[in-house]
Amino acid sequence: MSRQSISKLQERLLDWYGKHRRVMPWRAAKGKMPNPYHVWLSEIMLQQTTVVTVGPYFMKFIEKWPTVEALAKAKLDDVLTAWAGLGYYARARNLHKCAVIIAKEHGGKFPASVEALMELPGIGPYTAAAISSIAFNRSAVAVDGNVERVVSRFFAIQEPLPASKETLRMHAAKLAAGNGYPGDFTQAFMELGATVCTPRKPKCGMCPWQRACQALKQGIAEQLPRKTIKAKNPVRYGKVFWIQKKSKEFLIEKRTGKGLYEGLYQLPTTEWMQDNEMAKKLPHSYNRQLHFKQLSANVRHSFTHFDLVLEIWTAQPSKGFKANKGKFVSAEEIDTYALPTLMHKVVKLCLRAKTT
Ligand code: SF4
Repeated sequence: MSRQSISKLQERLLDWYGKHRRVMPWRAAKGKMPNPYHVWLSEIMLQQTTVVTVGPYFMKFIEKWPTVEALAKAKLDDVLTAWAGLGYYARARNLHKCAVIIAKEHGGKFPASVEALMELPGIGPYTAAAISSIAFNRSAVAVDGNVERVVSRFFAIQEPLPASKETLRMHAAKLAAGNGYPGDFTQAFMELGATVCTPRKPKCGMCPWQRACQALKQGIAEQLPRKTIKAKNPVRYGKVFWIQKKSKEFLIEKRTGKGLYEGLYQLPTTEWMQDNEMAKKLPHSYNRQLHFKQLSANVRHSFTHFDLVLEIWTAQPSKGFKANKGKFVSAEEIDTYALPTLMHKVVKLCLRAKTT
């Protein structure tokens, strides 16, 4: 593809973006430089999460912690609580770690280069390129799922993902080279994938690149990008315990140890294991004190690497009952604790089931 054709495509995309860019709380107004703190925060939140979901969380964070220094001073527990519901909690822990480093070692200023950004916790190649180009207008190619889709269709690449990632990145770099407006170009590329070159029913009639698009020419746009079929996730099983007083307060506890949900609150649960028969036999430390009944419904939840099925067991503690750890809280208070989505599902189900 000639330099001239690439320049034409860049011009068309930037022109289209100028007219159709969506307003987002972290996006700077036309012609203004964005706030790097806002760009970083939004990019971390947007990893694995949609724009619609992220909006209110982003607003909550910048109201509570208007600067990276303010976020660095916050307690990790408060950050986890504000993050609750967004999932992938390692992101929140890294967010806090990164804020502390920026405040203490960089004088509150984010570095601008991809290399320096990648030294920071929670920032990989994609996020570093996005921050460097959007916040600092540096040439860097940020290839997310939207860009991969546009590129694979534009060049009609048949090799399936994830093996084609490097090929797609190289093609994306070709399309972006020397565009003159790195910040806008990065956002325009992603925006095209998010709003026009959508996974289903791409709106090719509205696309600034339709004249040169190979997949459109061949009538295969919707079939791309091809993906290697993922093996089914293994299933783990366990039990979760709803211990609710007559006053309607129920027991939650802080999850200790490293790993999944570290530092978050949960309803008491057994360990989760692949052998369902073994999982059914697992006792709970309150078995001797409480008389548990099983709810007919189970809770199911999908993690990246496994699916989980939890039986729900309920009990009402007698007057002198003392929990080994944790505390009793009301349904109204629960949002002030960092509770993962899985546990919110259990709480909702148990509240609806009227277990006592
Ligand atoms: S013409 Fe259609 S398939 Fe090709 S890039 Fe545009 S929206 Fe995607």
